[in-house]
Amino acid sequence: MKNFLFQSRTLFFGISLITLLGGMGLYINFMHLIDKNNEAIRHIEIERAHRVSQTIVSKLHENTFYNLLQSYKTQDISDRISTLLSYYCNHEFKYVYILYKDAKGDYRYLADGSVESDRSNVNQKFIPTAPLLLQKALDEKEDVYDLVSNADGLWLTYLSPIMNKGVVESILVLDISTQEYEAFSNIVIPLSRSLNLFLVVLCGLFLVIIIQGGMFYKQVKRSMVDSLTKLHNRHYLNYLLSQRNIDTMIPLVIDIDHFKNVNDTYGHIAGDKVISYVARQMMFATRIGDHIIRFGGEEFLILLSDSKSDNDIIQIAERIRESIGNKPVRIDDTLNLTVTISIGINLSRKNIPLMESIKKADEMLYEAKENGRNRIEVFKD
Ligand code: GH3
Ligand code: MG
Ligand code: MG
Repeated sequence: MKNFLFQSRTLFFGISLITLLGGMGLYINFMHLIDKNNEAIRHIEIERAHRVSQTIVSKLHENTFYNLLQSYKTQDISDRISTLLSYYCNHEFKYVYILYKDAKGDYRYLADGSVESDRSNVNQKFIPTAPLLLQKALDEKEDVYDLVSNADGLWLTYLSPIMNKGVVESILVLDISTQEYEAFSNIVIPLSRSLNLFLVVLCGLFLVIIIQGGMFYKQVKRSMVDSLTKLHNRHYLNYLLSQRNIDTMIPLVIDIDHFKNVNDTYGHIAGDKVISYVARQMMFATRIGDHIIRFGGEEFLILLSDSKSDNDIIQIAERIRESIGNKPVRIDDTLNLTVTISIGINLSRKNIPLMESIKKADEMLYEAKENGRNRIEVFKD
């Protein structure tokens, strides 16, 4: 059951991790796609603005009223050019107008293609929001632009200097905002927000699973440890029985001699101290990889690897027996107790189930008790 729980947790954990990584991959790809698409839209818009500005500038050069307007900045001439510009105004090209810089350095309208209700008059002062951009167009005598794009849309201000004999006469301004970009954003941005939310939820879920898994693991581990001696308990033995290659291990069953007397004479607390002491001595005598289990009240089981020789195993058992019997346990300032243990070992290397092997070792323990205690009895084939 525990194994199944372990496995199902691992599976759940694995699936969550894959989902999370998949989600993140998808998100990165998605963002990359948005970026690429936006980049493409920006490029198309700049190209379009360039083409339209070139068309307008060449039309202006052919227009006699435009040349007149340069000399006589009167409203009626300006209106004619404004009408020409208004042909290019639409839902994307929001504003199309021409500016000039007066002797004082102020920018003023020459013509404005906006709808009449919104139209600026000739010579009306223009307060630039991006004066440096205007100056750049004048200085470099080349098209310049300023582009802003974000989740809400794309805005492009495109400036084309209108030249006459190598001098910048005026500047054509196109203000663009793109529906296409907005349409794309309207779909993509909410989608990416949903994806963000999904990832946050997934991360949260993942965290919960990790914490829960950790807690579960700790709980299972705790349930396999004896609180008094910190040795493994019977639950751990059940877990071991489900492992492979466990049947080859050599069992030593250990029991404290006349332990009831200790309890009866000195009390339960003294008894607990004796049990803890015996557990410690067993830990000192064994190595990592050997299993020590508190089997019952004052009974212990040690499982040693079958790679050890019979002699080594008997030596380990002797060392434990002597270390306990030869040194008294300190109960308190006034009381030291000497206890002994008996050990039954099954050295048979026939491959029988571990529990049967333990049973045989237990029989040998019984013999050790029968034969006077504080001794080791060994079963061999
Ligand atoms: P033997 O030499 O035949 O083993 O004699 P014994 O007195 O040790 O007999 P037995 O092994 O049957 O005694 C076990 C006693 O251990 C009985 C029980 O009260 C006591 N015991 C079991 N668990 C604990 C424990 O956790 N703490 C204490 N203090 N005593 C325990
Ligand atoms: Mg006993
Ligand atoms: Mg006992």
